[in-house]
Amino acid sequence: MTPGKEFQVTYGTIAAMTNIAVKITTEDGTFGWGETSCSTSMFYFSGETQASVRAAIKNMAPSLLGKEADNLNLIHETVKYVQRNQAKCALDIALHDLIGKQQGVPVYKLLGGALANEMPMSYTLGISSPKHMAEEAVKKVGEGFNTIEVKVGGKNSTQKTMENDIASVRAVRDAIGNDVTLIVDANSGWSVRQTLWALKKIEDLDILLEQPTRFVEGLREVRKKTSVPIIADESCQGLQDTVRLIEMEAADILSIKLTKFAGFYESARIIGLSDAFGLDYRYDNMSQSRLAATASLHLALAYSRGIPSGGTAFTKYEDDLVKSGGLRMNHGTASLENPKEPGLGITINEKLLGPADVYKA
Ligand SMILES: [Mg+2]
Repeated sequence: MTPGKEFQVTYGTIAAMTNIAVKITTEDGTFGWGETSCSTSMFYFSGETQASVRAAIKNMAPSLLGKEADNLNLIHETVKYVQRNQAKCALDIALHDLIGKQQGVPVYKLLGGALANEMPMSYTLGISSPKHMAEEAVKKVGEGFNTIEVKVGGKNSTQKTMENDIASVRAVRDAIGNDVTLIVDANSGWSVRQTLWALKKIEDLDILLEQPTRFVEGLREVRKKTSVPIIADESCQGLQDTVRLIEMEAADILSIKLTKFAGFYESARIIGLSDAFGLDYRYDNMSQSRLAATASLHLALAYSRGIPSGGTAFTKYEDDLVKSGGLRMNHGTASLENPKEPGLGITINEKLLGPADVYKA
């Protein structure tokens, strides 16, 4: 990350991106790129590391090699019970990029077509002092962001860190005024008791509260006792989690991330399910490059609705894996540089990638 742009969340400080990129090539030489997030903090989010994702891809490769790349049903059926969504995400994004190129259409068209041609994004503030967070928030609103996400819930939350959290949320709201959406994301860092204590102090600030506590039962307890909308992120890591959140009435809004949902294929199913139950959703990114962020944008454009997309971590890195095309930011809003370009519409700077594992049919 660009010095000074390191980023503190519940799981620790994010200072570098160590993700995995996947390139899938067919017999005719068409290829697609995918990416999944597995930076260090992801381990505490989902239990995955770069090594574990790499191993999962190695394990899946033999059963996928030689299959028709555009038969997504067959490919996903083949690895249906492999509960390794992060590894599957990189493969699924690469396949969509590839199929788009084969068919000469952008990925959002493969998903059924675009409802919008741009997506307002949110800007995330890492845990820091209230003064620093308020200053950064004002700066970002000045750049055009309409939604600010504030990280709270430092590791091993204590009364002292909780008081800093409350002061930060208040300072940010005071600084940005009432016209900007404010999301408070505790990344599971609070207990139910701590969340209810905090809510007493901040629920008048017109906030959305993301994953205050880790488990669905806790989210349900919190949701019963507040009118603040609850966003599920860590406890919504796939289709089964979504079913459970809905059954338990534990969330108002689902956090949609390709990384968690094994790519576009399952994300579309989860969006369909949340539509059926009238839930809102929010597109979000993990620590990832503009490759994966461009993929998320294709999803967001296809199913555009409601809450601004999250995650502009890709603006914080020194190097850009995407050489040309893809997502472009303009005054807090993301759009595609070449919206008619097939697939993801990007080229990759392969020099930035480490040594590859190669699997051939
Ligand atoms: Mg989150």
